[in-house]
Amino acid sequence: MNLDDVSVGTVYSPYNLSDFQKCPRLYDYKKRWDVKGKELNTAILIGAAVAAGLEAHYQGQGRDPKQVAADYVDASYKVGSDRSLEGVQALTRKGVRYGMATNLGLPKIEAVEKFFGRIRPDLVGRDPAGKLMVVDHKVKVNLDDRYKEKELGAYDTSNQMFHYAWAVGQDFGEKVEQVAIHLIVLGPRAYTEMHLIQIDQRHLATWLESAALDWDDMHANERRQRFESCMGKYGPCEFHAACHSYYGDESKFSALYIRRR
Ligand code: SF4
Repeated sequence: MNLDDVSVGTVYSPYNLSDFQKCPRLYDYKKRWDVKGKELNTAILIGAAVAAGLEAHYQGQGRDPKQVAADYVDASYKVGSDRSLEGVQALTRKGVRYGMATNLGLPKIEAVEKFFGRIRPDLVGRDPAGKLMVVDHKVKVNLDDRYKEKELGAYDTSNQMFHYAWAVGQDFGEKVEQVAIHLIVLGPRAYTEMHLIQIDQRHLATWLESAALDWDDMHANERRQRFESCMGKYGPCEFHAACHSYYGDESKFSALYIRRR
């Protein structure tokens, strides 16, 4: 099986694909409903703000990366979040400082935050041998050393990394045989690390073959349920009540969910 042998129709983002693979009904509900009173978790905001600062750093157009990140936080922070604005700003500054100090091992940067179809990797560059490498910044506010290998290991087979390798390779007309996680940990000790993932092209083709079939099902609005996904290790699915109290009767959803516009 080669990449060119795979028939690809409509393409969806890796996040959407992962939701769909977990449970098609979850993907369907997430498109149309939001959970009321969801906790405003700032970990995602810190990660996005650090990425914005690093984008300015690697674009090298004279913008101050720390100021870009601070402006991003100011524009996106919501009162009532799980951390204060000052705390989020301090953690973001730390993330940008550590992130800028990492040696990515890429003498040439080809693209920063550029769209390749449905994806927008943080960075595409070339290693000293001239081979393409895609890099994604991942910020962890807190990552105990005991859980690091498990955390990084999950990326080795993630839809996001395989989609990056496929889409960037298509765009450049070259094989992408390596993607990397630029891990930025802020606590309990702060450090950064590059986690390299080697992508075999036959392996990539088997991923694409399955992903393309799932994308076809997504396009056909397949919305079957997968009860085994209803209870995860961190608690119930956010649509647990929708499926198991309201049995999918959307006329009752407004008690717990808000329809997306
Ligand atoms: S509660 Fe279960 S069936 Fe319902 S959307 Fe979530 S995972 Fe799917």
